[in-house]
Amino acid sequence: MKRISVAQPKLAGNERNYVLDCLDTNWISSNGKYIGAFEESFAAFCGVKHAIATNNGTTALHLALVVLDLQPGDEVIIPTVTYIATANAVRYCGATPVLVDVCADTMNIDPQTIESKITAKTKGIIPVHLYGHPAQMDVVNEIARKHNLWVVEDAAEAHGAEVKGSKVGSLGTCATFSFFGNKIITTGEGGMITTNDDELAAKLRLFRGQGMDPNRRYWFPVIGYNYRMTNIQAAIGLAQMENIATALSDRDRLAGWYNEALADLKGKIVLPTEAAWAKQVFWMYNIFLADGDEHKRDAVMQKLDAMGIETRPVFYPMHVLPPYKEDNVYPVADLWSGRGINLPTHQDLTQADIIRIAASLREVLAD
Ligand SMILES: *Cc1c(COP(=O)(O)O)cnc(C)c1O
Repeated sequence: MKRISVAQPKLAGNERNYVLDCLDTNWISSNGKYIGAFEESFAAFCGVKHAIATNNGTTALHLALVVLDLQPGDEVIIPTVTYIATANAVRYCGATPVLVDVCADTMNIDPQTIESKITAKTKGIIPVHLYGHPAQMDVVNEIARKHNLWVVEDAAEAHGAEVKGSKVGSLGTCATFSFFGNKIITTGEGGMITTNDDELAAKLRLFRGQGMDPNRRYWFPVIGYNYRMTNIQAAIGLAQMENIATALSDRDRLAGWYNEALADLKGKIVLPTEAAWAKQVFWMYNIFLADGDEHKRDAVMQKLDAMGIETRPVFYPMHVLPPYKEDNVYPVADLWSGRGINLPTHQDLTQADIIRIAASLREVLAD
């Protein structure tokens, strides 16, 4: 039987034509027409004034924190369940990521717990739209306003998700995205920062390009970084943007197939939910075992693997990983992250594949 991968890119549009155009015209580095075109297309998609492309999603996060002037000794509030890049970017600035627990239904930052972690050193909040379900931005923004904090959306996993009709990427001070090979759209490696703030956008461009003055070549008023995206990456990105509506609807349809095929397993597993105010996108379709722990979850994943189905565990919370280890308890993260499984989620899966995955899971859970 065919092996089913948990994620894979879909390069079915103009990717090849645009990359060949880069090669044929010699514009292969970080100048060229595709970079601006990709940025404009992405800004329009998110409904924001500015989009600044970077070489990956982690540098997008780091660059955002640099231009927000995050300094050693500062604190930034992040959810404990996230991909480690969120925490690392804070550390790159010498600042401290301060962890908060998550909501059980979406595994997103629990706004109720944020205020208890705010101190005189807190500078901002990074809500993460985990696996494609948006965080509760209204409440996060309200808390940020009250305490004079900035908000950076980590939207690496949520291109196209919405809160009350507005796209993620337009909901904070700025937002960052990733275009890694397994994300909703890809450039191989790549990232983007979106913002409506003109001054911030100019700073992001300055610091992305080694800090070189845009009006005076080889004059560097600040210490910047080389976080530029190449024209080849942007060529792939522009082609991906031409098909992003299909990417999102294919993933929606897939989630519908899963919901139907797994319906009889309710009681043994918990299926994804969507908040009334949210439109989620399915970067990953997740299930949670209704009981048991990490060991039971890992055993289920191993059996699926033996049946030719690749899955992934939901992220370990930051507070159990060696660089960010704490003795504090985060009850929701501790209980639910260990029960979570990412099922295969990509555009080339058929309904027959989903039925096979559901049947395999049914067999495994019957043991
Ligand atoms: C993928 C991801 C990133 C980092 O993106 P890279 O492009 O892999 O550097 C950051 N945050 C989250 C939540 C992610 O999933």
